[in-house]
Amino acid sequence: MAKEDVAVKPTNGTNGTNGKNGIGEKRKMAPVPAWDNDPELADGETAQEMMAHKGGLTFNDFNVMPGFINFSVHDVSLETNITRNIKIKAPLVSSPMDTVTESGMAIVMALYGGIGIIHGNFPKPEDQAAEVLKVKRFKQGFVMQPHCLKPSSTAYDMIQIKKMFGYTGAPVTEDGRVGSKLIGMVTSRDFDFITMDVAGQKSTPIGDEVTPNTPITEIMVPVGKLIVGKISDPPEACQKLLKEHRLGKLPIVNDDNELIALLCRSDLLKARDYPNASYDSSGQLLCGAAVNTREESRHTVDLLVEAGVDLIVIDSSNGSSTYQIDMLQWIKKQHPNIEVVAGNVVTRQQAKVLIDAGADGLRVGMGSGSICITQDIMAVGRAQGTAVYDVSRYGRSRGVPIVADGGIRDVGYITKALALGASVVMMGGLLAATTEAPGEYFWGPGGVRVKKYRGMGSLDAMEAHASSQDRYFTAESDQIKVAQGVSATMKDRGSCHKFIPYLVRGVQHGFQDIGVRSVTELHDKVAGGDIRFERRSTNAQLEGGVHSLHS
Ligand code: 5GP
Repeated sequence: MAKEDVAVKPTNGTNGTNGKNGIGEKRKMAPVPAWDNDPELADGETAQEMMAHKGGLTFNDFNVMPGFINFSVHDVSLETNITRNIKIKAPLVSSPMDTVTESGMAIVMALYGGIGIIHGNFPKPEDQAAEVLKVKRFKQGFVMQPHCLKPSSTAYDMIQIKKMFGYTGAPVTEDGRVGSKLIGMVTSRDFDFITMDVAGQKSTPIGDEVTPNTPITEIMVPVGKLIVGKISDPPEACQKLLKEHRLGKLPIVNDDNELIALLCRSDLLKARDYPNASYDSSGQLLCGAAVNTREESRHTVDLLVEAGVDLIVIDSSNGSSTYQIDMLQWIKKQHPNIEVVAGNVVTRQQAKVLIDAGADGLRVGMGSGSICITQDIMAVGRAQGTAVYDVSRYGRSRGVPIVADGGIRDVGYITKALALGASVVMMGGLLAATTEAPGEYFWGPGGVRVKKYRGMGSLDAMEAHASSQDRYFTAESDQIKVAQGVSATMKDRGSCHKFIPYLVRGVQHGFQDIGVRSVTELHDKVAGGDIRFERRSTNAQLEGGVHSLHS
């Protein structure tokens, strides 16, 4: 039976089957046959039996046995817990790596039901808190960090902004940054008569006196003549101003006339509804941030909490340390309302120590990440499938959700991690080189557009900022650095606005194939032995991938 035979294909919408959200009436379906677990017919083995072999399995080493489908893919809910008290609609978390998660990634993750964890590899803790603030303040169409000009800028500077970033206007502020007094606004109409050669040197002013050297203050619309929105006004009021005055951009200021944001018409037009977005109780997007176990990080935690962070991840390659326990207990005492994910761990013994110390969630993985060399260099770590299974079993007994961190290569890996008991997966490499990942694209060998992706324990990242060294217990003063990660590039993956919905729908399809409608049902049926697995030989793995093709 084709999968879609079980329900009329929806015309739009993402969930529900009750005729709402564009989902059509159900087709008349054949009666559901008995799908009992006759031991005679039970192929494969239970998760417990599969893991009893004690070999150390990765996600690639097994398949999940198919189940019976009597529901549409739109009926599958991926709602889950990332910590004891934080629920999200999609089991997806972006890793706190400096080439993966800053505010841009955290916003898009939260819009599609997941959550982003802002990395801690900034020069100052205030910079990390500012990224959290951008996520918490996110409003559709509002750009919180627009490129600004200063009074000493020229028309040339604006043209460069347009050339490099494609922006057709910029606010002018007292010191050229967001947060200082608004002086005026330049839009393309003020400078688009200037044409320049490729090197941006020679100019051909057409029709008026404006040249690349013209001071920006001569061509901008000064603040007295400018229509501005107030940050204290509801977003709808600012949007109304933009529409009524047919503006391309509306600067948003506070009561002291300091620039806070820019409302952009083009972004507003692109704005969509995000029915599954992860919100806190006051309607702001959920956001997490990572800190290391150093004493100084306590101050960082205070700043992050002030910025509105919902979740702190204590970032360490080996979480079973006294440093981590100290940090965890301090956070729980000082900020009892903040949820803490501790880790990383790969054994039940490690998990117990951190749960006893108050962890609300556990991050599992050691050496399984795509850029990790921990297992080669430190001789320590664990196959990720086995680690997730063992720690999840223990976490379940203590009511603590598990974050499967690292080694997620594609959609099926997410489903497999959840099947082994994880509540969410954390991804680095799979989200690297998307539009929303930090860093600029550049052209790599063979004319491929790439972005940098580096391990937080790579020499590259450790040299950038000391905080990355702490994850790997490397002292800043230590002359001999032992890297536990590498630095690489990843091919342009496009925007997360397409990629995350693809991941979500892919996992929903996986659940449908397994025959479960929710993460809880999956966990219960795996624990009860109703969902079965099969290990696959090397040849089976080859057979399961693309093969025998000419090109
Ligand atoms: P990926 O999704 O790329 O397979 O793995 C990402 C995960 O690898 C991160 O969330 C983090 O736990 C881990 N990781 C990040 N950087 C490093 C590193 O330099 N060394 C090691 N051993 N692990 C890393």
